[in-house]
Amino acid sequence: MALPADGISSLLIDGKLVPGGAGTFATINPATEEVLGEAADADAADMDRAIDAARRAFDDTDWSRNTALRVRCVRQLRDVLLKHVDELREMTIAEAGAPRMLTAGAQLEGPVNDLGFAADTAENYSWTEDLGQAAPLGIPTRRTIVREAVGVVGAITPWNFPHQINLAKLGPALAAGNTVVLKPAPDTPWCAAAVGQLIAEHTDIPPGVVNIVTGTDHRLGAILAKDPRVDMISFTGSTATGRAVMADAAATVKKVFLELGGKSAFLVLDDADLGAACSVAAFSACLHAGQGCAITTRLVVPRARYDEAVAAAAGVMGSIKAGDPAKPDTVCGPLISARQRDRVQGYLDLAVAEGGTFACGGGRPDDQPAGYFIAPTVIAGLTNESRVAREEIFGPVLTVLAHDGDDDAVRIANDSPYGLSGTVYGGDPQRAAAVAARLRVGTVNVNGGVWYSADMPFGGYKQSGNGREMGIAGFEEYLEIKSIATSAN
Ligand code: NAD
Repeated sequence: MALPADGISSLLIDGKLVPGGAGTFATINPATEEVLGEAADADAADMDRAIDAARRAFDDTDWSRNTALRVRCVRQLRDVLLKHVDELREMTIAEAGAPRMLTAGAQLEGPVNDLGFAADTAENYSWTEDLGQAAPLGIPTRRTIVREAVGVVGAITPWNFPHQINLAKLGPALAAGNTVVLKPAPDTPWCAAAVGQLIAEHTDIPPGVVNIVTGTDHRLGAILAKDPRVDMISFTGSTATGRAVMADAAATVKKVFLELGGKSAFLVLDDADLGAACSVAAFSACLHAGQGCAITTRLVVPRARYDEAVAAAAGVMGSIKAGDPAKPDTVCGPLISARQRDRVQGYLDLAVAEGGTFACGGGRPDDQPAGYFIAPTVIAGLTNESRVAREEIFGPVLTVLAHDGDDDAVRIANDSPYGLSGTVYGGDPQRAAAVAARLRVGTVNVNGGVWYSADMPFGGYKQSGNGREMGIAGFEEYLEIKSIATSAN
């Protein structure tokens, strides 16, 4: 079973499914506001035990050195998740409000299958590199570079793409030889706990290698970041929390890998098919109610065709109804919580205060009396200096801005504290590629290319984070480098 049989999920600590020291807490369906069930609520003592188990599993077993075991276990995890994929799908739709159509990709099946990439990478990796003999300082020396696991990884994750983010940390961290304490977001405990249950009941992953600690108290994450027994933090979440994690980790100088927020730009050049480009931008701004860190939420269009672009975007976003994520054709589901809905509404109020207007949407849809819905919204009339254009909103909201040519478009795209992603649409592919090359971001889509795949690194420049998830680069985040010099005398 992937779902808790009694409606209460457990923690996974030292190979055992256990209750939380702080009792249980409700997990809510954001589309209906109904309670789905209960999750174990961990306290500080649970987190302490989880870190202790991960430390012992790293120090006292051969997990970090037994590549064949790890490869087998990561593939086993992929296979058991695939076996239960339909139960996991229903849970993910219900708990994360994820539109069903996205569970065939990044919301579930994509990251589950990508565990295979992590296992393949470990199996084929050059763990040892022979640099040959030399005589540095005149002393004959044989030089070898060895790559090995960092140690105990504390993984702290958000709620928006729970499986993508949990598994894109667990897969490479485990395949590389680390042990892990995963602290998922309080909004999606079941998505993580189900993985823990399947690990405990259906894999040979040794006790303590994976520990999953659900809870309502955000300080559980801070405990992980501060604890000297933890060697590395792999964090995905908001930039504000990322800063706090980095500061907490500083005392023990642990390695910190951060995937943070974004405010990415979709640039439409003056030789592009404006209507088609704006339609793509509008559609993608609605996906999962805009709760994707890399969604392009600033549509930057030629000034001379600004009104036409606003109308094209509003035509698409106005026709996409926020609704039941369980339906196969729903693109825009609910926001995750009342708090997030209120936060997005606060930005819509701010847009009006800053002089913007709504070309469509602007608040809660009339036809959804329950659930944390916001209607897809196009904001016009603002500049890139407005707070609405600079701050991450994390809702189905697209702000349309005007540019005065390619240089100005690049300037606007880069005039952001963030640097996560970007899109360029242009009629001349070489010109579009030249504009894309100037963007200070970690991933770029040119004329509709897709960067999301197991072998493509993903991550941010500037305040969108440091390090990369996925690809070989994502695997190597979880490795240390040891240089061994052996006297050849
Ligand atoms: P958040 O920063 O509020 O929380 C993320 C996680 O950090 C949660 O597990 C939370 O419990 C924990 N946490 C909170 N305070 C903490 C502290 N002081 N110390 C340690 N851990 C703490 O983020 P969220 O609201 O859950 O998620 C939305 C944010 O995540 C958005 O900003 C979004 O852009 C970002 N995000 C980034 C990426 C990426 O890859 N760049 C992917 C998805 C989401």
